[in-house]
Amino acid sequence: MKLTAKQISAAINGELFASSSLQDFTVSEIITDSRTFFGGTNAAFFALSGPVFNGHNYIAQLRKKGVQLFIVSNKNFIDNKAGYILVKDTIVALQQLAAYNRNRFSQPVIGITGSNGKTIVKEWLYDLLSTEFKIVRSPKSYNSQVGVPLSALLIDNQYDLALLEAGISEPNEMEKLAPIVRPNIGILTNIGDAHQENFRSMEEKLSEKLKLFTGAKKLVFRSDRFYSENIAEFCLQNDIEPINWSLKNNDAAIRFKCKIKTTTTEIEARINDVNYSFSIPFTDDSAIENACHCFATLIALKKNPKDFPAQFSKLQPVAMRLEIKQGINNCLLINDYYNSDLNSLSIALSVLKQQAAISHLFKHVILSDIQQTGIETEELYSKVNQLLQEWGINKLTGIGKDLYQHQHIFEMECEFYANRSEFEKQFVRSNYSSSAILIKGARQFELEKISALLQQKAHQTVLEINLNALIHNLNTFRKLLKPETKIMVMVKAFSYGSGDVEIAMLLQHQNVDYLAVAVADEGVQLRNAGINIPILVMNPEHDSFQNIIDFNLEPNIYSLQLLQQFSKVVIEFGINNFPIHIKIDTGMNRLGLKTKKEIEEVIAFTKNNKHLKIQSVFSHLAGSDEAELDDFTQEQFLRYADLSALIENAFPYKINKHILNSAGIERFPQHQMDMVRLGIGLYGISQTGLSLQQISTLKTTVSQVKTVNTNETVGYNRKGKIKYQSRVAVVPMGYADGINRRLGNGLGSALVNGQEARIIGNICMDMLMLDVTNLEVNPGDSVEIFGPNISISKVAQLLETIPYEILTGISQRVKRVYLQE
Ligand SMILES: *Cc1c(COP(=O)(O)O)cnc(C)c1O
Repeated sequence: MKLTAKQISAAINGELFASSSLQDFTVSEIITDSRTFFGGTNAAFFALSGPVFNGHNYIAQLRKKGVQLFIVSNKNFIDNKAGYILVKDTIVALQQLAAYNRNRFSQPVIGITGSNGKTIVKEWLYDLLSTEFKIVRSPKSYNSQVGVPLSALLIDNQYDLALLEAGISEPNEMEKLAPIVRPNIGILTNIGDAHQENFRSMEEKLSEKLKLFTGAKKLVFRSDRFYSENIAEFCLQNDIEPINWSLKNNDAAIRFKCKIKTTTTEIEARINDVNYSFSIPFTDDSAIENACHCFATLIALKKNPKDFPAQFSKLQPVAMRLEIKQGINNCLLINDYYNSDLNSLSIALSVLKQQAAISHLFKHVILSDIQQTGIETEELYSKVNQLLQEWGINKLTGIGKDLYQHQHIFEMECEFYANRSEFEKQFVRSNYSSSAILIKGARQFELEKISALLQQKAHQTVLEINLNALIHNLNTFRKLLKPETKIMVMVKAFSYGSGDVEIAMLLQHQNVDYLAVAVADEGVQLRNAGINIPILVMNPEHDSFQNIIDFNLEPNIYSLQLLQQFSKVVIEFGINNFPIHIKIDTGMNRLGLKTKKEIEEVIAFTKNNKHLKIQSVFSHLAGSDEAELDDFTQEQFLRYADLSALIENAFPYKINKHILNSAGIERFPQHQMDMVRLGIGLYGISQTGLSLQQISTLKTTVSQVKTVNTNETVGYNRKGKIKYQSRVAVVPMGYADGINRRLGNGLGSALVNGQEARIIGNICMDMLMLDVTNLEVNPGDSVEIFGPNISISKVAQLLETIPYEILTGISQRVKRVYLQE
């Protein structure tokens, strides 16, 4: 995209404030996130504002990085140091500009929406068609209100086909995206129950999604779903040619028949009495559905299906999620095999930088050739070099012919291999240590083989943490809060067992206001990792005062004695205004000042003490999750109001007040006051049926499968009695990993290859056995102990305990693996 400031201003109905030279200044890059921009003079910044951030606050910082044009909605930020375009609403303006850019493009645009499969269909179409077309497509799953415009702004006339996906989560969102995508050919992948909570009915959600296709010429959809007739009706009304397909109905335009083999599926397509056959290297229903959508799209594009069987047979899984793993010799691996283009490289580099900062690691990138159509190779790799420099990468390993030939361009330490097997031949383990290594390349380079060399092969049991789910949960709670209410996130006990530093980093990145830890050591660890937002220490022990002061942690003061001791140390250091938090006990009878007298003593002590400053006064609810205790909870609110007022009125400065934990936020949002303390909800457990996502999956793989005969037994004490010939799978996970031994002997179960299997016999220290009689199970198959299919709440119920105990009980020897889209 290349547009002048004047053109942009006209396209978005803005008012341009710029010197005459800046009016004709050409913009070739649009940015909305200051964190992922490292300099360049041809960028324009849209100052988007949401409930938790205000893009206007980053203008000065971006000006220093060379940005000269800003799109703003607040007049007060306009000065004569740069060019500005004033609009009413910056996100609307971004969408208008994207629609304007889309309209300059005369080649076909394929628009994809639906509940699942959008990104895979888009990527597979790219793989099928990229030999024939120069394609521009949405980076990753950029399909939101901001993602779609940013994708559409990548379009320009050097391309001859665009693939754009659009996703919605609420009513009235699609009408904003439709003019930006304006597809010639539409694909509706399917309608499932994602985001159903925001829609009154499935019909409402369907008709919202269909708005994307109003002006399309053709629409690809499946005609054997309960909602298919509504789509057919929509096509009729809007004069759209339906390209419908079915696995069941003979009257569909394309009739598919599938034969599932061990690892492949043979698909036969019948169109107007002509048969075409192809096969795909997958056997699951969703892959088959996605492949059928792709085939139907080829028909919509008037391609001859006879030209594609080879490409279909080579389709690969789309790893949309970046994977962070422990590597050999204290390395950290960040795997991203999604694809390689400049956009996704820049996203992955930002993750690398963030992760490397945690443990001060060397930053190493292993990169395959980039297959970006439309840019000269020389220019492409100069840009890659520039990106790597901007992100402070220490070393590059290049894999592929193009990189090999352009090695002179790169200015950091580097090495090059003409192909992957050359790298494998020369690989020396000891050359890799204390590095964060990003492994990134297009799928056909199969860089996962390099990752396998670098991966730590210890315990196969891992706790997988889905960071996107965590962000989803955070935002779900944010929606219950006023924009100005601060959020403190409880990251005590290794963030409820999910790992500490990684989660804290993410939360800092998501602009939460405070973190809280149980003891000072946890806080020190976070500071060492580069966390700089305020951290509250719930249990400040006397021995840790020095650390609290050195590392700028903030103690919870729950008694006069503690206050006096802490004050003494602060005075010795000669510090003024050291932040402290006062805890009031309103009925929990745990830590806290309980009586008016105790509070008055604390006030008297602090009042003329210039060394301390009260940051907040708070209390904790004993039964916010239980309706039967609501009367008691109300009493706690009243007590808190009375007691906190004493403190508030005694000081001239503002003191934050807070009492709500997760269940409190869900059930009593009217008491949010200045801040809330979010815990279990962030980790996916709701008391009121709030639509949260489970963030952790405890999984492992089958070590061995064996047949056990009638009257034999399984495990210690011969508890697993076998009544008839059975098959038993041995799994490397035991009570030392934190799986409760009481789940043994049939109480608990696990999911093996998607099939439920009961635990048989006693659980051992490092292993357990599953009854897999009549199930299809082999060594190496994956086993879920809890996760998307077996909820933590259900496991807690079986054990008559609470999800908190299950989450925090997973032992530290179980590796945490982080996934992020
Ligand atoms: C742990 C804790 C919380 C968070 O509670 P959740 O029920 O997990 O939301 C809030 N406040 C205090 C004082 C806590 O100790």
